[in-house]
Amino acid sequence: MALGPDAPLEQVRGIGPARAGAFAAAGYRTVGDLLYHLPHRYEDRRSVVAVGEVRAPGEVTVRGRLSGLRAIRVRRRGLALVRGIVEDATGQLPVVWFNRPYLPSWAEGGEEYLLYGPVRQGKGGGLELLNPSCERAEGALHGGRVAPVYPAVRGVGPATLRRLLPQILAQIDLPRALGEPLPPELLARHGLVPLPEAVAQLHAPVDGADLDALNRRRSPAHLRLIYGELLELQLELALLRERAVRAPRRHRYRIDDRLREAARAALPFRLTAAQKRALREIAADLQSPYPMLRLLQGDVGSGKTIVAALALLIAIESGYQAAFMAPTELLAEQHHAGLARLLGGRCRIGLFTGSRRAGSAAAAALAAGEIDLAVGTHALIQERLAFRRLALCVIDEQHRFGVMQRQLLTAKGERPDVLFMTATPIPRSLALCAYGDLAQSVLDELPPGRTPIATEVVPAARRREVYRRLAAELAAGGRAYVVFPQIDPGESSASLADLGERVRRALAEWPSAVLHGRMPAAEREEVMAAFARGEVRVLVATTVIEVGVDVPEATSMVIEGAERFGLAQLHQLRGRVGRGPRPSRCVAVHGKLTEEAERRLEVFAGTTDGFAIAEADLAQRGPGELLGTRQAGLPAFRVADLVADWPWLETARDDARELLARLDEPALARLRAVVEPRLAARSLRRGGG
Ligand code: ADP
Ligand code: MG
Repeated sequence: MALGPDAPLEQVRGIGPARAGAFAAAGYRTVGDLLYHLPHRYEDRRSVVAVGEVRAPGEVTVRGRLSGLRAIRVRRRGLALVRGIVEDATGQLPVVWFNRPYLPSWAEGGEEYLLYGPVRQGKGGGLELLNPSCERAEGALHGGRVAPVYPAVRGVGPATLRRLLPQILAQIDLPRALGEPLPPELLARHGLVPLPEAVAQLHAPVDGADLDALNRRRSPAHLRLIYGELLELQLELALLRERAVRAPRRHRYRIDDRLREAARAALPFRLTAAQKRALREIAADLQSPYPMLRLLQGDVGSGKTIVAALALLIAIESGYQAAFMAPTELLAEQHHAGLARLLGGRCRIGLFTGSRRAGSAAAAALAAGEIDLAVGTHALIQERLAFRRLALCVIDEQHRFGVMQRQLLTAKGERPDVLFMTATPIPRSLALCAYGDLAQSVLDELPPGRTPIATEVVPAARRREVYRRLAAELAAGGRAYVVFPQIDPGESSASLADLGERVRRALAEWPSAVLHGRMPAAEREEVMAAFARGEVRVLVATTVIEVGVDVPEATSMVIEGAERFGLAQLHQLRGRVGRGPRPSRCVAVHGKLTEEAERRLEVFAGTTDGFAIAEADLAQRGPGELLGTRQAGLPAFRVADLVADWPWLETARDDARELLARLDEPALARLRAVVEPRLAARSLRRGGG
C-alpha cells in the first residue's frame, strides 16, 4: 500500500496506537511529519571486520554466526545478561548483552548476523563485544552501512526509528509526496539536490556518503534543507515588507532649510558620524513615496534617542503628529522630559502612561491635533486614544513589544512611518532572521569623550570591600546605582526595601533612595529627578533602570545577584554608567555560580562592546532567549541553525528578494496564499503580550 504524506502514522506497519500516541505528543502526526525527524548523527558501520582481526578495544562491526547463547541470572535485580559467541571463518569473540532475554530463542539457527558495538577488555582478560546491536545480515539496517542515529521520540528509541523510517521510505513516493518547491535554477546556482532526494539521503545515506559532511550538517542533503528553510523564512519576511510598503503614503514631509535650522537649534551637541548616517537614511526613507519601516540599532549609549528626536522633528515641523512609545513608565517619563527639553519650544508634547491616566482633556487634545507629540507606554494603544494626523511612530526598545502592540499603534495613523529602536545590538544573523522585513541603520560608534567602564566580577564574600570602595567614590563626589534582582514579583518590593536598608546603612553618610516599578509614578519621577539633580547620591533600584535611564553624572554601579541576569541585561544595566566624560566602574557581585553563569560573567567582564556581547549571548543562549519571550515566535528550524548557517541566511535573503521581484501578479498571489497564513500564525504567537 502506498502512503501519502498526510497518512496518519498508525498506517505505518510497526506503529500501533501507543507509538502513534508517543509521536503525536512530540508533534508528529502524519507520515510527512515524521519524514522530518532527522538523524542527529551518523555512525560509520560500513567496514565489517573479520572476527579474527578484532585485537583491540573500540567500535566494530562484525558479521558471523551466533552460538552458545544463554541467559545468565544476575544477583542485581532488573538486569538480565545474555552471553554467547560470534564467529566467522577467521575466529571467535565472546559477546555480552544486557536486558535482551529474548535473544537466545530468537537469534540462533545458523544464520548470519551483523553485530555493531564496542569491544572491551572482559573480566577474564580477553576481549568481548559489549551489548552490540544485532540483526540478520540480510537487509541489515543497523550495521554494515552508514547508520543514521535518531534522537529518541518520547521513548521510541534510535533503533526503532532506524527500522520505521525505511519502512516509510519504501512505501511513500517521495518525489510525489514532497515535490520540489524551489525553482530549478536556484538549486543549480547553489549546487543543491532536489528535496525528495535530500530527504531520502538523510534517512538512508548512500554507501559512498561523506560521513564527516553528514555529521557536520554540511552534506548536500543538509544544505538543501537548510537553504530551503531559510529561503522560506526570507520569503515570508520579504512579503511582510512588501505588504507594509506596497502602497505609497498620503502624507508628505518638508525637509528644507527651515527644518535644518530648527534641527541645529535643537541639537545640544554635534552628531557622531554614525548618527549622521542613520539620520540621512531615515530622511531618505521619509522622502521616498513609500512608508518607512526601519530598525535603528546600536549599543547602549550610542545615542539612538537624539536620532529619533530629529526624525520626530521632521514630522512635527511638517505639520503632522508623531508618537513615541517606550516599554516602561520610567522610561516614558524620562523620554518625555528629555524630548520636552529638546523640542518643547517648537511643539506641544503629551505624556500617556498607565498611571497618569491621560485625562479626557489630553485625549481630546490629541484627537483634535493640539498635541503634536505623544510620548508614552502601551497606554498609547488604548482604544479610546485617537490621533488626528499621525505620521510617524517611534518604538523604543522594540523587543519589549509584541507585533500586535506595534500594529495597534500604527493602526492609529494612515500608513504611518515606523522607526524601531533596539536596546542593544542584535547579531547580524538574528537581525536578518527576526527583522529581515525592516531596513536597518546601525550606530556603531559611541559619542566622543566616553571612557570605558571598568568592570569587575566579585564573589559575595568580598561585598564589604565593594561597598568600602563605593563609599570612597561617593566621598570623591560620585553618584551610584546599586541594582538588585527581582527575586519574586510578590515579595520583591519588601525584600528590596530590606536590602536597600542594608546598603543605606553601609553608605549612611550619603543621601540614598529606593526605586522600583510598583511605586506611584509621581514618587518615582521625584526620586529620578532628585538623583539627576544630585540630591540623591545612591539609587537602590530593581531592573526598572535597566533600559534607557540616562543620568550622565552617575559613574558607579554595583549589581547584586549578578548571576541571575542574562548577558544582554547585564550589559544594559552597565550602560547606565559611563555616559559622561568621567571614568566609570561597574562591579558585579555574585553568589553561587553555575558553569553557565560563570562563562556569562566572564564575557561580561571581558568586553564592553555590545556587538561582541550579543554574539556571545546568541551562542550561549540561542535566539529565543536573546530576543526575549515576546519574540519567541521565531520560526523553529528543523535543520538550519542561526549561528552556524548565517552565511546561507544572507544568500537566502538576497534570493528571496530577487525571486519576489521577478514574480508576476498571479504567481505572487499564489505565494501569498501559502505564506500569509503561516505568517499570521507566527505573528500571533510572537504578538502574545
Ligand atoms: P541609547 O542609544 O542607549 O538610547 P541615548 O540616546 O540615551 O543612548 O544617549 C546616551 C547619552 O549620550 C545621552 O546622554 C545623550 O544625550 C548623549 N549623546 C547622544 N549623542 C551624543 C553626541 N553626538 N555627542 C555627545 N553626547 C551624545
Ligand atoms: Mg535608549
